[in-house]
Amino acid sequence: MKKVVIIGSGCAGWTAALYTARANLAPLVLMGAQPGGLLTTTSIVENFPGFPEGVDGYELMTRMQKQAERFGAKSTFGTVEKVDFSKSPFELTVDGEKNQAETVIIATGASHRHLDVPGEDLLETKGVTYCATCDGALPVFRNQPLVVVGGGDSACEEATYLTRFASVVHLVHRRDSLRASKIMADRTLANPKIKPVWDSAVTEVLDVKQDKVTGVKLKNLKTGAESILDCAGVFIAIGHGPNTDIFKGHVEMDAHGFIIPKKGTMTSVPGVFVAGDCADQVYRQAITAAGAGCAAAIDAERFLAARNE
Ligand code: NAP
Repeated sequence: MKKVVIIGSGCAGWTAALYTARANLAPLVLMGAQPGGLLTTTSIVENFPGFPEGVDGYELMTRMQKQAERFGAKSTFGTVEKVDFSKSPFELTVDGEKNQAETVIIATGASHRHLDVPGEDLLETKGVTYCATCDGALPVFRNQPLVVVGGGDSACEEATYLTRFASVVHLVHRRDSLRASKIMADRTLANPKIKPVWDSAVTEVLDVKQDKVTGVKLKNLKTGAESILDCAGVFIAIGHGPNTDIFKGHVEMDAHGFIIPKKGTMTSVPGVFVAGDCADQVYRQAITAAGAGCAAAIDAERFLAARNE
């Protein structure tokens, strides 16, 4: 039986592993379907403190893993299929095999919603991105026309942020009014560098043949008219989904599936902790996830210490 099992291997997971390993708790990290998490899909991370020249997302995650392993953290590529938090020790079914844990840290992250249109997947990191804060300042986007897709607060935030770099930001939304909060919507529409494209859907990202984004194909959903909009980047901001399906009915979550911590990082089940994007609708940054991973590790360590007193 393990004292601590960490589900997920993004910033939150590896930071929790580092702290629990240094506390001699010999954590096991179950790396899941996307080892290293969302950051591994980003090219240069320029906003993680300590890397003045920026750092490749994959490299950053590899370094976090090495740092945790140096203190004794172990990991496996397993994906958790089922959990049973109704009894102690907790039981986790990983690729058909049962594992027991005294405490669990859930750090399964979130996944960007995809448009699911041709070109989107093949051009990811070649102009298609899901994070303006991560990628907006890259040289390839500077003084170029950019497209943001979505009509919520995220899309408005992304579009506004991108006006620092872009020549113009086309905000493509499938309806004729924004879903975003009024203050965000007003600020966005008042920005002279943001041009809304209403009632429109992106039906294809161009150009796979050139292996980079050169534009998007648009369809006006009211008139059916099709057009091409030239751009160097497509920022898709149509929402996130937390990777929490397997925990439904086991820990308390909100209507969107984000896990709700009850006390510090502890969930509705004592001994089960949560960190990172699977519990965060607001910040969703590598550094905040890492901070939450640290907090969850400290909470788990104190929980075990109190139980053994
Ligand atoms: P959201 O509010 O769910 O908005 C998603 C947007 O994407 C909507 O406009 C939606 O269109 C559009 N959309 C969804 N699926 C689409 C598809 N397949 N194709 C094209 N468009 C699609 O998500 P969010 O903007 O990420 O915000 C999530 C939560 O975080 C919200 O509660 C938000 O207030 C909060 N948030 C707050 C801030 C802030 O306050 N600073 C910043 C970011 C996020 P429809 O409008 O037609 O449904």
